[in-house]
Amino acid sequence: MKGIINESLQALNDDESYLPDMQGDDREKAFKSLESILSTPNNISKSFLRVPLENGRVVRIPAFRVQHNNTLGPYKGGIRFHESVNEDEVSKLAELMTLKNSLHEVPFGGGKGGVIIDPREYTVKELNLICKKYVQYFSDIIGPDKDIPAPDMGTGEREMDWMMAEFKSIHPGHAYRGSFTGKSILNGGSLGRREATGKGVYFSFRYMMHDFLKENKKWFRENENRFAQTALDHLDKPFDIAVQGFGNVGSVAALEAFQCDHLQNRVVAVSDRNVCLYNSDGLDIPALIKYTEDHDGALPTEEGQLDDQGIKAIIKDRDELLTLEVDTLILAALEDQIHEDNVEEIKANIIVEGANGPITEQADEYLADRGVVIIPDILANAGGVIVSYFEWMQGRETQFYEEEEIYKLLFKKMQHTMDTILPQFFGDPFPLRQNCYIHAVGKLSEVLYRQGKLY
Ligand code: GLU
Repeated sequence: MKGIINESLQALNDDESYLPDMQGDDREKAFKSLESILSTPNNISKSFLRVPLENGRVVRIPAFRVQHNNTLGPYKGGIRFHESVNEDEVSKLAELMTLKNSLHEVPFGGGKGGVIIDPREYTVKELNLICKKYVQYFSDIIGPDKDIPAPDMGTGEREMDWMMAEFKSIHPGHAYRGSFTGKSILNGGSLGRREATGKGVYFSFRYMMHDFLKENKKWFRENENRFAQTALDHLDKPFDIAVQGFGNVGSVAALEAFQCDHLQNRVVAVSDRNVCLYNSDGLDIPALIKYTEDHDGALPTEEGQLDDQGIKAIIKDRDELLTLEVDTLILAALEDQIHEDNVEEIKANIIVEGANGPITEQADEYLADRGVVIIPDILANAGGVIVSYFEWMQGRETQFYEEEEIYKLLFKKMQHTMDTILPQFFGDPFPLRQNCYIHAVGKLSEVLYRQGKLY
C-alpha cells in the first residue's frame, strides 16, 4: 500500500496544475509531510479485554482501535471480529477507510477496530460481554463526533446495538445514536444498511461495464488503452460471474446480479469457507440464500442437500472458484485471496473487490499488465460506509428515509465518484486503483493544504 500511495503522491507532484501555489522547496516539503501523514496512523489503541467465560475461565482477548486520519471528519470504520486480526492489518484497513471516504466525499476520516477471536467459539452471552468490554476500554476515544465504529467481518447489527447501549450507559445524556452505525432499525439503524455494501459492489460493476461503457462507446474507441480494450471486448455480451464469499456482501451482490436479469448476466459460481458451487447455466441465488439462512450461513456441501432444495449445481473445491473460466470475479471474502501462487491461473478479465484488499500488491501489478480491469475496494465496496453516513445523518435529523430513497442516494453518490474517475481512467495508462488513489489522496491533501497543515 505504501508503494501505491507514494506513486500517487508522485503523480500529483508531477502535475503542475495541482496545488499550483506550492512550488520549489515548499512543494518538496509538502509532499514529504503528506507521505508521513498518510503512512502513519494518528493513534493506535490496544488493550486486552478481560472476559469471564461461562465455564468459569477468564480470558484476556487482544483488541485494537486504530485512528488513521480525521482531516475530513470523525474517524470512521468497522470493528472486525476474526482470528486473523492483528495490529498491522487493522492499521492498513484504517488507512483504506481514510481513502475510501475521501474518494466518495463522505465527510469522515478513517479508522478501524479489531478483536482477535473466532466469534463462533463464544456463546451469545460471552460475545455480548466482549462487545461491552470493547466499548468500556475504548469509550474515551469513541463518539459521534470523534470516532464512529460500524460492523465489519464477524460483527453485525446485534453487536452494534450492544455497543451503542454500553456507550449510552457510560456517557449518559450524550447524543449516543451517532456513536455507532450499522445498528438494527429499531435501535436507530438505517433501512438498507445491511444490503448496502453488496448492492454497491454490484452497482459499481454494472455502472462501469454496462451504463458507462454504452454511453461512451465512441469515446472509448478513440481513447483505447489496454483497459479500455478489455472493457470493449465485453460490449453487448452478458457476463458470467463467479462470487467468492457468500456472506453479507457476496450473497447480496450475487442476488443483485440475479435480479438484474434484463442484462442477462449469470452468476455461475459462488463459494464460502467450505465449498464452491457451479452451474454453467447460472445458479438459483434466491434458493441458495434461503438455504444459508436456514443453515447458519453455510452453503450446501453435499449433493443430497442440493437435491432436497431442487438446486442444480456441481460441487467443487472452494478455491477452484478463483480460476474458473468466467468473465468476472467478485471477491467478497478475505484479504490476499489472489496472490503470486494463483495469479497466473486467473481467467477473469474483470475483478470487483467486494472485500478489502483481496489481491496482493504483486498480483495486482501482474493483472494490471495483462489489462485485467480491477474495480478496487475503495471504489466498489464503499456502499457500507456511505449508508453508514446516511444512518449517522438520519440519527442527527431524527428523521428516517425510505429504503428506496437510501438506495437512490447511495447509487447517486457512487455514480458521481465513477463519473469523475472513469473518464480519467480510460484516458490514461494507470490502472483504476491508481486513479482512485490519486483522486482520494489529492482531495485529502488539498484539504490539508487549505487547513495550513502542509507548511
Ligand atoms: N466495515 C465497512 C468497510 O470496510 C463499513 C465501515 C462503516 O460503515 O463505517 O467499509
